Amino acid sequence: IVRLRYAPSPTGHLHIGGARTALFTYLYARQRGGQFILRIEDTDLDRNVSGAAEEFYNGLRWLGLDWDEGEDVGGPYGPYRCTDRMDIYQAHIDQLLREDKAYYCYCTEEDLTREREAQVAAGETPKYAGHCRHLTAEQRAAYEAEGRSRTVRLRASEGEKLAFRDMVRGDISFDSDGNDFVIVKSSGMPTYNLAVVIDDHLMHITHVTRGEEHISNTPRQLQIYRAFGWEEPVFAHFNLILNETGKKLSKRDESILQFISQYRDLGYLPEAILNFLALLGWSPETEEEVFTKEELIERFSFERVNKSGSIFDQQKLAWMNNTYFKKAELDVVTDLCTRQLQKAGRLPKQLDESQQAWAETLSALYQDKLSSASEIVEQTELFFRDNVVLEEEGRGILADEQVPAVLAAFARHVEEMGEAGFTVDAIKAAVKAVQGETGAKGKGLFMPIRVALTGQVHGPDLNATIWLLGRDKVLQRLRAGAE
Ligand code: GLU
Repeated sequence: IVRLRYAPSPTGHLHIGGARTALFTYLYARQRGGQFILRIEDTDLDRNVSGAAEEFYNGLRWLGLDWDEGEDVGGPYGPYRCTDRMDIYQAHIDQLLREDKAYYCYCTEEDLTREREAQVAAGETPKYAGHCRHLTAEQRAAYEAEGRSRTVRLRASEGEKLAFRDMVRGDISFDSDGNDFVIVKSSGMPTYNLAVVIDDHLMHITHVTRGEEHISNTPRQLQIYRAFGWEEPVFAHFNLILNETGKKLSKRDESILQFISQYRDLGYLPEAILNFLALLGWSPETEEEVFTKEELIERFSFERVNKSGSIFDQQKLAWMNNTYFKKAELDVVTDLCTRQLQKAGRLPKQLDESQQAWAETLSALYQDKLSSASEIVEQTELFFRDNVVLEEEGRGILADEQVPAVLAAFARHVEEMGEAGFTVDAIKAAVKAVQGETGAKGKGLFMPIRVALTGQVHGPDLNATIWLLGRDKVLQRLRAGAE
């Protein structure tokens, strides 16, 4: 049975890179009928942000990912948050100290900095020179009596082959460098490298999946596995996400929306984001691009995850979202669009029945044009303005001498309908009647009406557009156009 985990550090928002790691991990776990575990890795106390874990949970759930074990759902190997596992770590640290696989280090920050600077100046790769590696009991007691703070370092091997299997990249190996690295900070907190090994082992993780920035941590983790005499898991390191200029996406890069919550807030469809994220680094064997979550579970493989960076293609993102919008259920689209229009102050917080029907017709009309619901705000501006903003092209159309007669005739019909008779069907019939009365047809009929009412030469279905404008606006705009 496979067991995989996603182990975010709660230092901020759920990032697209993190969400993609979670997704790949989830897909593999589900494909193999295994377990997907969520663990909060909060060993770096200074960087923890309160509420961040909840945002991770919400973001992952929004994307449609669910987990079998975690802080919020429980599980047999908890707690699932590092800071709640201090007793567990302590027992393991004690074991390493007892077995002399690790030792206390009393070197001060200043000592270490001096040492490092001297090494760098001499052109060496900095590493711990080993001052505390063989302290006598007396020396140790003296440091303790001084009240010095202490860290714990692992006794590192030198020149040992540290090889691991990476499901994405194949076999990777490093030679151990003899650098006794810190596994417990002076605060008593285990370092990430120590905690992650203990947690992955005790939680029976079979595949450790994460971003490629962790490849360089892996040899240290392997040394910790060996110190404990534990079997190592298999690894998979996912590639970097690049911006459109091919550079590593930095958190400050504002050319791309980087947080899952931003997509949610703008009314993107989670299925589309999920699909897009899956293709950000993974590709199927075919040219297909649109996949449901179930299809992704079936088809995902580590072997087809890119080793080189993946460019975040925003045009593709827009296309993907539009593809999903087109096939989404109308009530889902209406709901998302309504929320965006409410946020923009275009619709009241509570809709009555007729406003609800209006919002639904509007959403249906624009559904195919959206890549996110937020775009509805700009695209439907014409329905909310008092005046028509005339496009340049429209000016010429309204200049035709037949136009006033067409608009006046149409206005007459709209007036006759009364408020109650103002329906899409009645509007359609009226346009037809105008054709009979004025002899205008085709473009000569529709264009002046469209331009007079919307200011635009292009737009969605005319009858529905007219209905959405409402009788008052229609009459007022027709009269203005007929003058
Ligand atoms: N907490 C790490 C991160 O947020 C994950 C490391 C791991 O999965 O081993 O990048």
